[in-house]
Amino acid sequence: MKRTAAGMIGTLATFALLGAAFAQDLGPRVQKLAEGVYVHKGKGYDSNSGIILTQEGVVVIDTGQNPIESRSILETVKKLTSMPVRLVINTEPHADHSTGHYLFSPPAMVVAAAGAGDSMRGAQRAAPDRIQTLANSSPEMKAALEGYRFIPPHMEYRDRMRIDLGERTFELIYLKGVHSEADTAIWLPKERVLFSASAFVNEQVNIFRPFVNIQDMLAASRLMKALNPEHVVPGHGAPGTIKIFEDGEGYYALLVDRVGKLVREGKSLADIQKEVKMPEYPAWGSQDRMPTNIDAAYRMVIGK
Ligand SMILES: [Zn+2]
Repeated sequence: MKRTAAGMIGTLATFALLGAAFAQDLGPRVQKLAEGVYVHKGKGYDSNSGIILTQEGVVVIDTGQNPIESRSILETVKKLTSMPVRLVINTEPHADHSTGHYLFSPPAMVVAAAGAGDSMRGAQRAAPDRIQTLANSSPEMKAALEGYRFIPPHMEYRDRMRIDLGERTFELIYLKGVHSEADTAIWLPKERVLFSASAFVNEQVNIFRPFVNIQDMLAASRLMKALNPEHVVPGHGAPGTIKIFEDGEGYYALLVDRVGKLVREGKSLADIQKEVKMPEYPAWGSQDRMPTNIDAAYRMVIGK
């Protein structure tokens, strides 16, 4: 068959249209940060996930807020490539980042910081009917949970680990005392993309557990800013830049200043809890976590 110029142009136009349709198919919640590097954004303050394509397969960072989200992440992967998911890297072991591992593993190996498996097993023991309760929440959730298995990490690292897969490098950096028992920032040095875990969340009040403190958070901020990332993907909240860390630093400086002033006036923690307000941050989500923030600031001020 003889191909005409018009036919060629028609074919090219068809490819262009297919390309555009392909891009749209990913939907508004999938954002491309660099060639082959995507974030599947959580709804509202739900957890974010990373999808990174390499010549040797896919790396998924965190497996979604819940199994419905996990299936959406898996669908996105399938739209992007037919290659298998080789690795799941966990920024933290909490359920809203790890329940969906069963959809990716096998074939994926799950990698996390030391202590992540113990944290997951502890949560499992504390709420043995968690998955059943989740399944009962809606028929969609029940369907999404089909094939569920508990998958703790296959590999845990201490302090730092470097993974080279295909053309990509992933630097896993343990962040001490910022959110869970095992927090990991994931740095892609060539692409200058940083998945910063839940040390700082975007426009949201963070939660302070007893082992989390402001000093460690500020240390994590300094460490991550020094990497000089172009994109920062927090565990929760919209992806952005190092402004996420700077906003957090400003917030903690103000909080510690206010709490410190009341401590010097001889006020008790109970009084300080009642008095300290942060009206500069009315739009930040999860305001109910404020008492844990004031508690952390108090611990920092009195040097505990
Ligand atoms: Zn968490």
